[in-house]
Parts: sequence; structure tokens; C-alpha cells
Amino acid sequence: MFESLLLNFLFLLIPVLIYLIFFEYKLHTYNKNILILLSSISMILCMALPIKLEIGFIFDLRYIPFIIVALFGGYKYCFPLYIVLNIYRFMIGGAGTLQSFLFSSVIFMVVPFFSKWFIEKNAKKRIFIAAFISIFTIIFYLSTLAAVLPAIGAEFWILTVNSVPTYAVVMVIIMILIEKIIDNINTSNSLLQSERLNVLSDLSASVSHEIRNPLTVTNGFLQLLNKSKTLTMEEKTYIEYALLELKRAENIVSDFLAFAKPQSENMIYSNLMEETEYVKNIITPYANMHQVDVQYSFNNSLFFKYDKNQIQQCLINLYKNGIEAMKGKGGILSIDVSEQKKAIKIKIKDNGVGMTKEEVLRLGNPYYSTKKEGTGLGMLVVYSTINKVNGKIQVDSEVGKGTTFTISIPI
Ligand code: ADP
Ligand code: MG
Repeated sequence: MFESLLLNFLFLLIPVLIYLIFFEYKLHTYNKNILILLSSISMILCMALPIKLEIGFIFDLRYIPFIIVALFGGYKYCFPLYIVLNIYRFMIGGAGTLQSFLFSSVIFMVVPFFSKWFIEKNAKKRIFIAAFISIFTIIFYLSTLAAVLPAIGAEFWILTVNSVPTYAVVMVIIMILIEKIIDNINTSNSLLQSERLNVLSDLSASVSHEIRNPLTVTNGFLQLLNKSKTLTMEEKTYIEYALLELKRAENIVSDFLAFAKPQSENMIYSNLMEETEYVKNIITPYANMHQVDVQYSFNNSLFFKYDKNQIQQCLINLYKNGIEAMKGKGGILSIDVSEQKKAIKIKIKDNGVGMTKEEVLRLGNPYYSTKKEGTGLGMLVVYSTINKVNGKIQVDSEVGKGTTFTISIPI
């Protein structure tokens, strides 16, 4: 019995190990189908070599991969597993085939329903929930078994005593491993991101300073030239164009400068009150122009150290994006600054066009923009600024509904 249990455990470990060894650092390109395939294989292996109790009853751990996929992937990814499970079960045939079909159908209908809720929980809660669901599943299974058994004897209770703890313990171990992998991937991604931002901010500081002076000089001379009386109309329009393009270049340079290292003369120790109000005031005309209402609430007494200019620029970029997302149809931009136990929370919500999951992942990449006049630097500034104060940004977005940026800055 113990050997077959270990064997089953090994079957469940295989997908985790293969994933860890071959796919861990390919998060953005990883193939979900591979995970489905691996889980199917481990499910089949569990069914092919079940755990045999001395009393003659057998049980297996097929529902562990099934539940895990159902919880993390929802109906879409659970469906192939459901098909595989039943095809294989029909191939084995014998007593209980129909019951197994009905039983797996119920599990398939119920468990993936909780997927969305499950994914939003933190790691500890997810482990707990998965264990709970697996215990619930096996108890449910045992009760359906009890209903068809002619008599419930000692054997049935032996089966119960063996299978319930096995399901719980194995599920917890597998879930801990999975959560650890997810945590590792997230940590290494954020390290990578902050390293990239550091390099970029060093470079941009030097380049932007060098470029700004020639831009200003060129601008001045072009304006002087524009005043000349000997110019034809056509020549004047050329100069206008040149000035416009210069303005654009200047915008990009100032975006980059905001992104550069904090400057000591701007560092302050405060609670964001002045900055958020100031930025709200300067963005309000822009909001009105686009029929956007700005709702603002401030409730924070926590202080921290930050670069005033950078924080202002960061907030402007976020507000501006929110307003631009509601261009043409109007809406509400709500800004809410509040304090939690040891963190400041800034929530910026719009009901604009929203983004797909892929678009959210691309946020903060330099030059990523879906706008005609966009520079794609706004979010880069936002991420780098928040990164510098050790804050975190959470993006919740739904296409057509809107976007919420939640920034939390630890104190
Ligand atoms: P830009 O605004 O110049 O395009 P950003 O870096 O500020 O550059 O934003 C990058 C892209 O992210 C935008 O082009 C837009 O597609 C998307 N985006 C940012 N914020 C929002 C939002 N609140 N709602 C919808 N899309 C957004
Ligand atoms: Mg922008």
C-alpha cells in the first residue's frame, strides 16, 4: 500500500518537476497546453496504477491534478482533462464506470466555477482552499460509494481513513510546490524589471541632459528665423512644422528626464497631499475638455520620502492615461488616496476602453503605445518611479469596462 502511494505521489510530482526544470523561466511564452498534457499524463498514470488497500478496495489520486487544473485554469483548461479522464475510464471499463462518469461530471461542473475567485487569493489561502476542495471531493466520492454499496462495513471505514488524509496531505504538498514555483517566477521577474529600469534610468539621465540644450538653442533660432520678413508663406509653414516636431522631441526628453534618477533638491518627506492636489488641479481642465468628471478623495497621514517632481509626473501620466481611455465618451476618473496598516494606497480608476491581459503585461515597456500621438513612455515613468519607492502596482482591467491602477507604497 505504501509503495503504491509513493508511486502515485511520484506521478503527481512529475508534471511539477518537468515544468520546473524546462519551463520555469519562460513565463510569457510558456505553453499552457504542455501543462494540460503533463497533468493528463499524471492523471492516467494514477488511474493505471492505483493505490491498493489490503482489504481489496482501491483508490487513486486522479482528482488531484484534475482539481488543480480546474482551480487555476477554469472550465477552458479543465475540459480536456475531463475528456481524457472519462475516455480512459471507459477503456478500463468494469464496475463503476457510469458512477465515475457522473461523479467526474459533477466535479467538472462545480470546481472550475470557483477558479476566478481562487486565482485572486494569496498563496496561503489557495493552498488551504485546494486542500479543502480535495477533502470535500473525496468525501463526496465516498458518500456516493456508500450509496451504491450493499452494506457499509469496516472496510469502507478503512478506505475512508486512508483516502481522506492521503488526498489532503498530497494536495497540500503539491500545492506548496506549485505556489513556491509561482513565487520564484514573480520574484525573478520583478528583479529583472527593476534591474532593467535602473540601467535605463542611468542612460536616459545623461542622454536627455545632453539633448535638451541643442533642442532649446534650435528652437530659439527657428523662432527668430520665423520672424524674418523675407520669408515666403511656404517657407513659414516649413518652420512651423520644424517647431512642432521640436516640441515633440522636447516632450520625449522631458518624459525621459522624469524617469531619470531622483534629484536631491527635490527629495521631500511628506504624505503626498500637496502633490496629489496639485496634479488634480492641473489635470482638471484636460478632463473637462474630454467630458470627464474627476472624483478625488484623500485620507492619508503616513509620511515617506520621495522625489516630488517624479511623483507628480507619475501621477500626471496615470491620470492622463485614464482620461485618454475615456476620450470621446466621457466618464469618471476617480482618485483615492488612503492609508492601510503600513502602506499608502493610491487607487486610480477609469471607466474607459480597458485592456486585454496581454496589453496589461506590456505596460511599462518603453515605446509601447496604442495611441497615434503616444510616446509609450508614460507608464515606463510610472513603473520606475513606483519602483524607486519600493511600491507595487496592481492593474485590473477589463476591455470595454475600464481600468483600475492600485499602487501601494510601503512605509
Ligand atoms: P502613451 O499614453 O503615450 O500611449 P503610456 O506608457 O502612458 O503611453 O501608455 C501605454 C499604453 O498603455 C497606452 O497607449 C494604452 O494603450 C495603455 N494604457 C495605459 N493606461 C491605460 C488606461 N487607463 N486604460 C486603457 N489603456 C491604457
Ligand atoms: Mg500616457
